[in-house]
Amino acid sequence: MLPSLDPIDLPADAEALRTEVRAFLDTHWRRPDPRLQAQSWQAIDRDFSRALGRAGYIGMTWPKAYGGGDRSAFERYVVIEELLAAGAPVGAHWIADRQSGPLLLRHGTEAQKRTILPGICAGETVFCIGMSEPGSGSDLASLRTRAERRGDRWVLNGQKVWTTNAAFADWMIALVRTSEPVGGRKHVGLSQLLVNMRAPGITVRPIQDMAGHRHFNEVFFQDVALPADALLGREGGGWAQVTAELALERSGPERFLTSLPLLTELAERADPAADGTYLAERLADLITLRTLSTAVAGELVAGRDPVVAAAIVKDLGATFEQGLILDAADRLGWDGRRAMASDNDPTEALIEGLVLSAPSFSLRGGTPEILRGIIAKGLGTGGRRA
Ligand SMILES: Cc1cc2nc3c(=O)[nH]c(=O)nc-3n(C[C@H](O)[C@H](O)[C@H](O)COP(=O)(O)OP(=O)(O)OC[C@H]3O[C@@H](n4cnc5c(N)ncnc54)[C@H](O)[C@@H]3O)c2cc1C
Repeated sequence: MLPSLDPIDLPADAEALRTEVRAFLDTHWRRPDPRLQAQSWQAIDRDFSRALGRAGYIGMTWPKAYGGGDRSAFERYVVIEELLAAGAPVGAHWIADRQSGPLLLRHGTEAQKRTILPGICAGETVFCIGMSEPGSGSDLASLRTRAERRGDRWVLNGQKVWTTNAAFADWMIALVRTSEPVGGRKHVGLSQLLVNMRAPGITVRPIQDMAGHRHFNEVFFQDVALPADALLGREGGGWAQVTAELALERSGPERFLTSLPLLTELAERADPAADGTYLAERLADLITLRTLSTAVAGELVAGRDPVVAAAIVKDLGATFEQGLILDAADRLGWDGRRAMASDNDPTEALIEGLVLSAPSFSLRGGTPEILRGIIAKGLGTGGRRA
């Protein structure tokens, strides 16, 4: 059975925030660089993140006791939608705001929450996600990084890979093995640890992607000693925690808005005779995706667990964006070799950045095959839990 989702209208008080966010962008982000716009939520601007923190736009839904804004998930939706639609550089706080903070709120101890969450809300504290390892991406439960309990410490050994922002992150939430699988069940015996990235024994080696950026990294742990309270949540409960975390990162507007600046550019330059129907179809796609994504936000607000719908948004969003980028490059007459030689033209720089990053859209956060597996399995459960 397909998940049933009720379309929602964002409440008026949330919609009212749009004007405020646009004014904020006018003040704090005067000269949008097309290369940064193309990176969108991977673009790093620490000062911009701090400014967002001061404005109360990070940790918006979290309790005030931890530095949050105690606002609704719909208000947060509007704020991130506006920031992403503009292509603003939100990468420095993105992971912490979207998933590490919510994970801490759900599973962290009072001390962990009070120590870490206020820094995230201020746009100061950077998180990275330590899930993937060489040979363990889609098959995440096969990971080999291990934490061993020795007295009052955890001792961590192993390697992570593709770790976005590890080079300057303050903390990693790492999924590691803390005990042996039971009965061949690899999902058993995994735990999440809060790793202070400045602890001795951690080596971070940047990886350059094909667009020339160095946002992701290899991370090596050699006898890294962590305090007992580095455990996040339940020992052995890592798999369930990580599965819920992945649902948080799959259904937001970041899954279909990275290329919006390019769609806008195409609309501005379009030849109505040649491009009109194409543009109308892409707009219809975009509206459909947004309707799905806001409906998932409504499910989350209602306390439900829309795992399947989130996977659908992620898969359809990546497919939409990858197609749009190649079509727009074609329609705008982009010549890859010329653009690589000179990137002075802002539109060419925008296209080039997006063409080079588009293949990653269907890798980060889960590949199409994995997402479609989740969707297929979930069809028999009413779509709420795969
Ligand atoms: C831009 C970017 C940022 C990233 N940031 C992070 C990060 O911060 N932290 C982190 O931990 N990871 C990160 N990743 C890694 C990402 O999560 C993995 O790339 C992803 O999970 C896929 O794993 P893999 O690369 O090992 O590919 P594999 O799992 O080896 O997959 C290779 C291919 O095989 C297919 N495949 C695999 N298993 C099956 C199956 N059972 N059935 C059918 N087909 C299958 C896949 O769909 C894919 O097409 C990032 C990746 C990218 C591109």
